[in-house]
Amino acid sequence: MSAPATAQRNSDVASAVAEARARYVAARPASAALHREAVAVLPGGNTRSVLAYGPFPTAMARGEGCRLWDIDGREYLDLCGEYTAGLFGHSDRRIQAALQAALARGLNLAAVGEAEVRLAQILCRRFASIERVRFANSGTEANLMAVTAARAFTGRPAIMAFRGGYHGGVLTFPLSGTSPAVAPYPVVLADYNDAGGAVALIRAHVKDLAAVLVEPMLGSGGCIPAHADFLRALREATQEAGALLILDEVMTSRMSAGGQQARLGLAPDLTTLGKYVAGGMSFGAFGGRADVMDAFGGPIPHAGTFNNNVLSMAGGVVAMGEVFDDAAADALFARGEALRERLNALCRKAGVPMVFTGLGSLLCPHFGDGPFDRPVAPTPVVDGLRELFFFDMLEAGIYLARRGMAALSLPVSGAELDRYANAVADFLTLRGPLLQDARIAA
Ligand code: PLP
Repeated sequence: MSAPATAQRNSDVASAVAEARARYVAARPASAALHREAVAVLPGGNTRSVLAYGPFPTAMARGEGCRLWDIDGREYLDLCGEYTAGLFGHSDRRIQAALQAALARGLNLAAVGEAEVRLAQILCRRFASIERVRFANSGTEANLMAVTAARAFTGRPAIMAFRGGYHGGVLTFPLSGTSPAVAPYPVVLADYNDAGGAVALIRAHVKDLAAVLVEPMLGSGGCIPAHADFLRALREATQEAGALLILDEVMTSRMSAGGQQARLGLAPDLTTLGKYVAGGMSFGAFGGRADVMDAFGGPIPHAGTFNNNVLSMAGGVVAMGEVFDDAAADALFARGEALRERLNALCRKAGVPMVFTGLGSLLCPHFGDGPFDRPVAPTPVVDGLRELFFFDMLEAGIYLARRGMAALSLPVSGAELDRYANAVADFLTLRGPLLQDARIAA
């Protein structure tokens, strides 16, 4: 007599993952074949590290609303939300119309235009601390330019960042050791949410510190919100030291019409934006104090062929000027908060060491008892549970970031939220015994 399926699936984390992976592979022959072609021409088979996972990533063919279809014809509820850039879903009619109208007017005009002025006006109106703003093509570029501004303004070379912080492809700060993916600035690394430690380091580096670069919630680091008093301490200490506070709101600007800074009542010197702001077109922006930013109208050059490309500018005007208004931002925040509370109630009821952290519409599961105030290097068991969660959700037709992060898009509402909560409840039931291992190993 064979053992029941649940027993087979739960003998230990490693065999549960191996089984889940085998089912994943069997269901995706077309993605597997594409990956075999990709590795011959793209190192690692991809051109975007966050999408690289074993045994091969699922390749998507198309999307509509908050649904995706992979190239094997499987349909998913998309909760990955393009790592927060997909706020509007895949087919918002107003954004599509704006982009089509821009296309009809012609591409690559090599000139200033009306849309960039309108978008700058909208952003300066919405974000209280942004008096002047400039555009770029990515959040990475926006952060590089904000750091450039701070270094020029202060005449100092170094930046402070946080272990596990992520500000772009060349601003990736590791939990330990050094990263090959950090632009060659002198960097002072501190622990996230450790106000005392960070303030002491700011004071110790008062002569050479140009800026503190911080996310109000570690996004890539696992949706870990900053404590309000941590950010306040950074604000005060940078002011005292004559360094600038750069708030990276590339992910968190969606938390209200004026970003997470409006929720916190925080006034950074510079803010960086990106992701969804151009309605899903490539985008980055950096802005803030006029006395700092005005250097870009003078001594500091800031070029970029696509900085004001007509698609991003047209998308941004409609996305930020019409679709994602104050009410939409507040409603999305509330939907996300309610979902996280609902999922955590399920975890508590199941008695397992699993917790969803985050803010508003961005959330991420963690395995263990916490506290989750800063990222820690995962144990092999925790890594396995994370992978298992990802594969189990895919099997349930739910597409998340590989690390488990969900970024709710505007089309995600009641039925979709129920579907995700039910899938998590099933996971807790099926994997309950294995989840206890996170506690032992943590
Ligand atoms: N800053 C934060 C907080 C991010 O999450 C990201 C991207 O995930 C970036 C910056 C970099 O943005 P981009 O991928 O557009 O370069």
